Amino acid sequence: MGVAALGRALAARELSSAEAVQALLARAQVHQNLGAYLHVDADAALAAARAVDGRRANLGKGETLGPLAGVPIAHKDIFVTTGAPTTAGSKMLAGYASPFAATVVERLAAAGAVSLGKLNCDEFAMGSSNENSAFGPTRNPWDVTRVPGGSSGGSAAAVAARLLPAATGTDTGGSIRQPASFSGITGIKPTYGVCSRWGMVAFASSLDQAGPLARSAEDCALLLSAMSGFDARDATSAERPPQDFHAQMLAARAGASAGKPLAGLRIGLPKEFFPAALAADVNGAVRAALAEFEKLGATLVDVSLPRTELSIPVYYIIAPAEASSNLSRFDGVRYGHRAAAYSDLLDMYKKSRAEGFGPEVKRRIMIGAYVLSHGYYDAYYLQAQKLRRMIADDFQQCFRQCDVIAGPVAPTVAWKLGEQGDDPVKAYLADIFTLPASLAGLPGMSVPAGSGEGGMPVGLQLIGNYFREGELLHAAHAFQQATDFHARAPEGFR
Ligand code: GLN
Repeated sequence: MGVAALGRALAARELSSAEAVQALLARAQVHQNLGAYLHVDADAALAAARAVDGRRANLGKGETLGPLAGVPIAHKDIFVTTGAPTTAGSKMLAGYASPFAATVVERLAAAGAVSLGKLNCDEFAMGSSNENSAFGPTRNPWDVTRVPGGSSGGSAAAVAARLLPAATGTDTGGSIRQPASFSGITGIKPTYGVCSRWGMVAFASSLDQAGPLARSAEDCALLLSAMSGFDARDATSAERPPQDFHAQMLAARAGASAGKPLAGLRIGLPKEFFPAALAADVNGAVRAALAEFEKLGATLVDVSLPRTELSIPVYYIIAPAEASSNLSRFDGVRYGHRAAAYSDLLDMYKKSRAEGFGPEVKRRIMIGAYVLSHGYYDAYYLQAQKLRRMIADDFQQCFRQCDVIAGPVAPTVAWKLGEQGDDPVKAYLADIFTLPASLAGLPGMSVPAGSGEGGMPVGLQLIGNYFREGELLHAAHAFQQATDFHARAPEGFR
């Protein structure tokens, strides 16, 4: 069951949360080969589930629990948790026990969601395939010889394999949307500032955002409502009242009718999102999904995001620059890996970092330190910041002509494990369609839209204007009411 269905079944006492947790713990055990979990906390999960069951048993007349009460979830291992260790997929943090929990983790727990543990991810969320995890890759349940996407690969694989109804993820340049697309599930990265970054291990602070991965837009809406909201501990948290994204998702559009729930919705198709090099299977699935949106009453309009290609160099300057600063805290002194043998303090820093960080993380620290250094700062970092502003402005030009923007999430379906070899630029280039919305801080969503080569899932990306998550969820929900792509599970995981 998905989140909404399971929440209803729990409320109707058709099963208990403890039973749901037990069933999913057993399922996680059976499918260990996927490498989705880094840590399963069975005892804590059962205790939390029993506590919710107890609260439900003692409800007074007319009292109810929220829609997430007793629903099992798990967290990307980039969110710090008390109890379960936090590694960020890095040897640097192996065995690290945080003294506090992330705001997102606390809020979901307060809503009654029961965490089963921590999910695999690329080291410090740097990657697009989950192959950069220090603890081994995660496999795609649609084809275990392929990657699930990344960096929230464990989250996506766990939901796709029905190990969980939903999971948390983070998205700096596509890490919720792209694994959702590769794994045939739904994911949303909200506007920058909607979810607190407190307790999220920092990669690139001006880009990092949390969000849910689940089967449907409805399930994502339920999670996002609980996860989001102002938090004084995050200086970039958006100061606005709590949002009911589920109600926003259900709210009918003015002028809509039963058969045409999306009447009046203008969907912009940036020509740069449909280049000649786009894989034919991805193009076909995305175009067919767009035709479905037209049937639901939406109109398609041609728009342009002329700096789409520049998003790649801009992102791969800004994100490493911020990472090089953020990761300087890992010096072996206060926490994290410390080398066993060293000659003096400087040697201790050097050896601890050389041993603790993986190759992709080291590459980014070096790129970041370079682009920030005296003499290169103006040519690289400052120039990238200027282009970032222009990319954001291009979106505002588009939103004069349309309400939401649509296109593919990724240029291909999930690739094979190891396929990209030692060429990191190959993976960087494949981020082309998710980076623009990240740089602009806009909300973006991945919606299952059919399948391509090898039966692998294809995701449709929807991008909205600032704080228009409700509009994205509404459009995705209408599409999911009319189609069943989101309900399909991989063979062997039904
Ligand atoms: N693939 C991108 C990167 O490697 C995005 C990662 C992310 O969103 N965390 O940086």
